[in-house]
Amino acid sequence: MRSLSTHDAIVIGAGPAGASAALTLARHGWSVAIVEKSAFPRRKVCGEYISASNLALLDRLEIGDAWRLDAGPEIRCVGFFSGETRVEAPMPDAKYGPPAKDGFGRALGRDVLDALLLQAARSAGAEIFQPCRAVVIDRDGDMQRVRIQSRDENSGDETTTLRAPVIVAAHGSWEPGPLPSQLEKTSRRWDLLGFKAHFTGSSLAPDLMPLLAFPGGYGGMVLADRGRLSISCCIRRDMLARLRRNCGSGHDGAERGCPVSAADAVFHHLMASCRGVSDALDGARLDGRWLAAGPIRPGIRACYEKDIFRVGNAAGESHPIIAEGISMALQSGWLLARELAGAPSGRAGREAAGRRYQAAWRGLFSTRVYAAAAIARMALGPGGPAFMAVAVRNFPQALTFGAHMSGKTRPVPGLT
Ligand SMILES: Cc1cc2nc3c(=O)[nH]c(=O)nc-3n(C[C@H](O)[C@H](O)[C@H](O)COP(=O)(O)OP(=O)(O)OC[C@H]3O[C@@H](n4cnc5c(N)ncnc54)[C@H](O)[C@@H]3O)c2cc1C
Repeated sequence: MRSLSTHDAIVIGAGPAGASAALTLARHGWSVAIVEKSAFPRRKVCGEYISASNLALLDRLEIGDAWRLDAGPEIRCVGFFSGETRVEAPMPDAKYGPPAKDGFGRALGRDVLDALLLQAARSAGAEIFQPCRAVVIDRDGDMQRVRIQSRDENSGDETTTLRAPVIVAAHGSWEPGPLPSQLEKTSRRWDLLGFKAHFTGSSLAPDLMPLLAFPGGYGGMVLADRGRLSISCCIRRDMLARLRRNCGSGHDGAERGCPVSAADAVFHHLMASCRGVSDALDGARLDGRWLAAGPIRPGIRACYEKDIFRVGNAAGESHPIIAEGISMALQSGWLLARELAGAPSGRAGREAAGRRYQAAWRGLFSTRVYAAAAIARMALGPGGPAFMAVAVRNFPQALTFGAHMSGKTRPVPGLT
């Protein structure tokens, strides 16, 4: 066991939320430790689309130019694919920057984006503990201790203890764990499990991001960096079990009684239930393996509880049907860091910062969490995909309106 120096803040998790918070705090002169359990670069279940409303923030974080260089094409159309239905409508213009610049979102692989953000945090002075898992948080007077474990090939687990007055939980919401900020494990038939893959050589229109609606789930497709198509979806646990059983009982070439893998079952379901997907992926090649995660945990949680601040999915999560999770992660990390940087030290200062941060979080994100829940409920309900198909065929502007409601054009406060 090793004990290390004290920091001003310890950030647990280096996804977009943790990196954004750590980077901003480090730029304000704080000494920051980031603890991340995975080695980077790593791929992640995510559609990888980022709204243009984040560009001002990416510029403030000083990674805007690198993001512009790497990200895929501008997404100027929002679409809807379900069964034989294919509808397109204009994506609303976020109008950030000079005319005709940066008004539209783009997609960048999480292997690239997360490494870019973490490198920027490192350059700003954050100390990075990776791959290290945070396993315990406990009190030490006005300080808190975080025990972290790294795996050593020769000596097994190595444990280190970090100390700081400020703890930021940025560990996401999809994995249960022992930390007081982590959610309990669930296993319910209506849980939504996340899947994602990259393909190269697809024929999806480069400026189109279609929403996919299919029995038991929803998803999306978008062209990301280096010609990779990112396809991701959420599917109900009970539907997935049924698909695996059915595929394993002789359909699709699988051996009788031998369930196919979850990824194969999801892929076949997407191909069979959305003509737009099978057309776009006709002749395309899988790039890397399918990834799975979840169940996802949409909802609004406490932003500050038990003297732990939460950002990103740990604070609250919208159904990914609106593709706003990265925005909420980046922006909540920034909002919290801004409150903390101006707050007096000590518990009372943290509590006041926690209250202000929670009010700002809810003002900025609650509407999109509720809007996403309403759209997801429609997509997942009985006959939902067919109902949505009729609605958007008759009223394609609903897609543009939905993109507005989901926050795609809403500027980050304090940046414009
Ligand atoms: C199918 C699907 C598609 C999606 N598509 C989009 C999209 O197109 N656009 C969009 O904006 N959002 C999308 N999202 C949502 C988005 O992926 C998440 O909202 C976003 O990743 C949340 O960021 P975060 O930083 O809060 O958490 P995460 O990105 O989950 O990062 C958490 C980090 O913490 C680390 N960690 C966890 N536990 C510990 C621990 N104990 N110790 C140390 N490290 C730890 C993890 O390794 C991870 O790196 C999608 C989600 C799904 C399921």
